[in-house]
Amino acid sequence: MSTGKLRDRYGRVATDLRVSLTDRCNLRCSYCMPAEGLDWLPDDTVLSDDEVVRLVHIGVELLGIREVRFTGGEPLVRRGLVDIVRRTSALGVETSLTTNALGLARTAHALAEAGLDRVNVSLDSIRRESFKEITRRDRLADVLAGLAAAQEAGLGPVKVNAVLMRGINDDQAPELLRWAIGEGYELRFIEQMPLDAQHRWSRDGMVTADEIFAHLEREFTLSPAAEPRGSAPAELFLVDGGPATVGVIASVTRPFCGDCDRVRLTADGQIRNCLFAREESDLRAALRAGATDEEIAERWVTAMAGKRAGHGIDDPTFLQPDRPMSAIGG
Ligand code: SAM
Ligand code: SF4
Repeated sequence: MSTGKLRDRYGRVATDLRVSLTDRCNLRCSYCMPAEGLDWLPDDTVLSDDEVVRLVHIGVELLGIREVRFTGGEPLVRRGLVDIVRRTSALGVETSLTTNALGLARTAHALAEAGLDRVNVSLDSIRRESFKEITRRDRLADVLAGLAAAQEAGLGPVKVNAVLMRGINDDQAPELLRWAIGEGYELRFIEQMPLDAQHRWSRDGMVTADEIFAHLEREFTLSPAAEPRGSAPAELFLVDGGPATVGVIASVTRPFCGDCDRVRLTADGQIRNCLFAREESDLRAALRAGATDEEIAERWVTAMAGKRAGHGIDDPTFLQPDRPMSAIGG
């Protein structure tokens, strides 16, 4: 394995690769996708399993990637997932999955056996009606079954990611936390970001970290957890003195771009040096044109060098990326 070569001009080194395996999904979370319609990537542009593994291999062996997280869209709908996890894990890196957990009850054991280390499950409400309103599908029971299976298969600590939306589930923060603590899951709240396919996000409409704290502090006492945050996006707090914790990922109101160690590979083989990048670097074209591993690595290094200092959401010139979160990989 190589040491970090993916260095930008601000000295940050990317070691954490987020790989989107598909832009498709079986839910339709309103902060992510429209109720209906959204063009999928054409099939022939989506990387094959072998192509994904080759790029991951280049990232690990030549460029210093140490952690690989599979995401999407919904990675569990990708047929080759277990095999991709097995081949990635064999490279000796940490592997994890961000998923909505639909179908995880069936695959959790196979994934664990293939070497997957951890899962993050997205769940914004444990009330059937709110879940249905947010995701536009009546599938809460499947998610809960998937979570339990992940825990049972040893894919822990199981993290649960929740996005709060004003007037929909923002009053449910304490309830979610009580439930997560009871189940032994680590809950983290994520501020909603301007990455929805519909371009409906507004700064005034989003629930801020301060509001999340206010909701939680009505029922719990939060104190900063001692462990240093490092490059982790979540600020961790002890709940009622611990040991239980809750995380808040305040990407918008308390950006952590200065500590970012992430790089993203889209399902169609584009390197994005930031969620909010306006430019991509086409590794698929290089790969399919017969480039060597070294040539592809060089292209990847160049793509990272141009990473911007910050996402600039608060800048008046900020432009939301054309690709929605579901096609970037969250
Ligand atoms: N389908 C999988 C899932 O939901 O976990 C993986 C992909 S999803 C895009 C990854 C994460 O991004 C989820 O935790 C989801 O809640 C989050 N997400 C999606 N759209 C978002 C937005 N506009 N702002 C903040 N988080 C968002
Ligand atoms: Fe699908 Fe995940 Fe987006 Fe929800 S957040 S629509 S589960 S990709």
